[in-house]
Amino acid sequence: MQPDIEIFLFIDALGWNLTCQTHFLEPWLPERRGIEMQFGYSCTAIPTILSGVQPSQHGHLSFFQFSPQSSPFKKLAGLENLLKPASFWNRGRVRNWLSKLIKYLYGYTGYFQLYQMPWKKLAMMDYCEKRDLFAPHGLDPIENLRDLLDKIKVPFHISDWHLSDEANLEAGCQALRNCCRFLFLYTAGLDGLLHSHIDDMAIIQRKLDWYATKVQALLETGRQMGRQIRMTVFSDHGMTPFTHSVDIQSVIQALGLRFGTDYGVCYDSTMVRFTFLSPEAKDKIHSAMTAFESQGRWLSKEEEIHYGIYREDRLFGDAIFLMNPGIQIIPSDMGVKPLRGMHGYAPEDPYSQATIMSNDHIPDRIHCVADYFSLMKERACNLSSLTL
Ligand SMILES: [Zn+2]
Repeated sequence: MQPDIEIFLFIDALGWNLTCQTHFLEPWLPERRGIEMQFGYSCTAIPTILSGVQPSQHGHLSFFQFSPQSSPFKKLAGLENLLKPASFWNRGRVRNWLSKLIKYLYGYTGYFQLYQMPWKKLAMMDYCEKRDLFAPHGLDPIENLRDLLDKIKVPFHISDWHLSDEANLEAGCQALRNCCRFLFLYTAGLDGLLHSHIDDMAIIQRKLDWYATKVQALLETGRQMGRQIRMTVFSDHGMTPFTHSVDIQSVIQALGLRFGTDYGVCYDSTMVRFTFLSPEAKDKIHSAMTAFESQGRWLSKEEEIHYGIYREDRLFGDAIFLMNPGIQIIPSDMGVKPLRGMHGYAPEDPYSQATIMSNDHIPDRIHCVADYFSLMKERACNLSSLTL
């Protein structure tokens, strides 16, 4: 195919097993295969998709890292004494509102959310997504998609990630009519639905049908304009159904170690990342975690290297304990209640696999999330050499 227009439609959390099970978009995009997830979750995958480099280089693995020296939230220390009762200030809606306030006061342009990070830990935490990753220089000094497209001067459109799926696909159609030739369309609605309704196929199927209608509308718009569209639909990871939860936090807190003096810790939904500040803390934590070794495992250095998350500076923690697929850490810094579905398990988990599909051949070299960028780059550059 020698297309006039390239459309890359990102569907957050469209797993390969869901794609196969539902034959999603099969008549229109028959070229398809599973893609190895980038270890982590969306906040890891998006910078990888937008740059082609892995967390070991771009530094985004989880939103929060234990980093007392660099924490921008030091001035918020002591807030826990003011924000009483805690039950009110920790409510999801209130935290949402506070997240917006902090984002505004700190001038952050990226996605910012406090989730359930305890106030007393926040002053020792740093946050990775302070800048809008989609904006020019959003990943400086690493080149992102926007920097690339600005450079090669093909008329392009990148979705506004703040907007709804409906608004983004409508804006995509409009961009087509306005003669944009490279479109990166972003949608995150399926991710939210799968988190809460992974076991309700009627709801999920309705959303997939909606996507199918929109993809057809985009292709039809191109056809009416006499343009050849190459459409690539792709995702970052799948979604794993909930099996049960584990309370690691209580076990670690019962050790009598002092947070920030003996150790640091980040509890994500599917992994715990420890920083050891004393040999005694390291020993105590390791022996306490043996209680969970039938439900998860420590990542070896070789695995961290293999997953693209190994850093000499241990930005992501000294040691990572990853839960087995389906098991959620509750409570965590991300939430206090389990969700019906979660991502962020081992990339080898069949539910973790991402999807790529197209109406044209997908090069064999594209097999993991970090490969998407080179595909977009190659295709955008090809467009720039073509004149219409
Ligand atoms: Zn999600």
